[in-house]
Amino acid sequence: MYCLGIFRDVTEHKKMEEELKNKYEEIEKEKEETRLLAQNLEKFKLAVESASDHIVITDAEGIILYANKATEHITGYPIREIIGAKAGKPWGGLMDKDFYVKMWKVIKQDKKTFKGEIKNKRKNGQIYDAETSISPIFNKNGEVEFFVSIERDITTVKEIDRAKSEFVSLASHQLRTPLTAISWYLEEVFDEKTGKLNKQQKEYLNEVQNSSRRMIDLINNLLNLSRIELGTFAIMPRSTDLVELAEDAIKDVVLQARLKKIKIEKDYEEGLSKINLDPKLTAMVFQNLVSNAIKYTPENGEINIKIKKEGENALIVVKDTGYGIPKDAQSKIFTKFYRADNVRTQDPNGNGLGLYIVKAIVEKSKGKIWFESEEDKSLPAGRHGTTFFVSLPLGKAESK
Ligand code: ADP
Repeated sequence: MYCLGIFRDVTEHKKMEEELKNKYEEIEKEKEETRLLAQNLEKFKLAVESASDHIVITDAEGIILYANKATEHITGYPIREIIGAKAGKPWGGLMDKDFYVKMWKVIKQDKKTFKGEIKNKRKNGQIYDAETSISPIFNKNGEVEFFVSIERDITTVKEIDRAKSEFVSLASHQLRTPLTAISWYLEEVFDEKTGKLNKQQKEYLNEVQNSSRRMIDLINNLLNLSRIELGTFAIMPRSTDLVELAEDAIKDVVLQARLKKIKIEKDYEEGLSKINLDPKLTAMVFQNLVSNAIKYTPENGEINIKIKKEGENALIVVKDTGYGIPKDAQSKIFTKFYRADNVRTQDPNGNGLGLYIVKAIVEKSKGKIWFESEEDKSLPAGRHGTTFFVSLPLGKAESK
C-alpha cells in the first residue's frame, strides 16, 4: 500500500511538472506573439506617420484622436492644435453646406466611404485643393467607432490642369478665326460666285470643305472642353422648344441620311410646352446624339427620335439600328477622347469629345443621360443598335 502511495505521488508530481512546462511554453509563445504584434504595430505606426498623405483618425463624433505628420505639413497646424479638434474645423468649412451634409450622410448614416474633391485652408490662409476619402471603422457590433480620413494635396496637379485648359482655350480661339475665314471663302468659290468650276475642281473643293468643317467641329469641341474644365461653362436658360431643336438637328443630317439610305422616324408627344433650358447647349445635345446615330448606323438602317413628357421631366430618346457599343466600352464612352474600337474602322472622323460635352451639359441642366446598347452583329436588324435617353427637368435649370 505504502509503495503504491509513493508511486501515485511520483506520477502526479510528473503530471504537474508536465502541465507547468506546457503552461510555461504557452506563456512564452504568447509573449513572442505579443512582441511580434508590437513590432508590427510599430512598423504600421511608422508607415502611417511618414505617409505623404494626410491621415486623420477621429471618434464617431468626428473629434480628432490621431493625425500623422503629413497633416501638420499640409494644413500648417501643429499636431497639438489638431488633436481634440473637430475634424476639418481648423482647415475646412470652405465648401457649401450641401457638401458637408452629403459627406456626413454617406459616412454616418449609409456607413460607406465618402470620396470627393475638397477645398481647404492652410493655417497661413492659403487655399488648397485636396482629394479626400473618409471611411467609417466599425466595432464588433457593427457600430461606427472611428472614422479614418485620408487626404492628398492636389493643388499643383490642379494648377497644371488649369494651365493646360487655358492653353487649349487660347489655341482654339486663335485657330477658329482663320478657319472661319477659310470656310467662308470656300463657300463663295464653291457656290460659283467667283466663276464656273469644273467637276474635278468641285470634287477637290468638296474635300477641302469637309476637312475644314471637321477642323471647326474639333476646335469648337476643344473650346467647350476647356470651358467645362475651367468652370466657365455658362448656362443661360430661357423658354426652349425641344421639338424645334430636334428638327434643327435632323436638318443637319438629312443629306448624310439620304446618302446612307437611313430612315428617320420621329415621334413627338403632342402639346409639349416649351421648357426652361439653355437652347444653344440643348441644341448641342440633339446635334451630337442625332449625328452619332447616323454616323454609327450602316446603310439601310433606321433611327428614331422621340420626345415625351415623363412626370416632371422631358424625356428625349434617340434610337438607332447601328453598330452598337461593345460591352467593354460601355463604361468609357462618356470619357473625353474615348472612341470604341468597333467604330474607329467604320468612321475614322471622330474625336471622342461629343458625349463628354453632352454629359456635362445634361448634368449642368440637372438632367440625366444613359443608354442601352447591343453590339452583336449576328442579331437581325432592329435587334442591335443603341438607344440614348436624356431626361431633363421641366423648368428647373439655373443660370450659372
Ligand atoms: P465621336 O463620335 O467623335 O467618336 P462621341 O463622344 O460622340 O465621340 O462618342 C464617343 C464614342 O461612343 C464613339 O466613338 C462611339 O464609340 C460611341 N458611340 C456614341 N454614340 C454611338 C452610337 N449611336 N452607336 C454606337 N456607338 C456610339
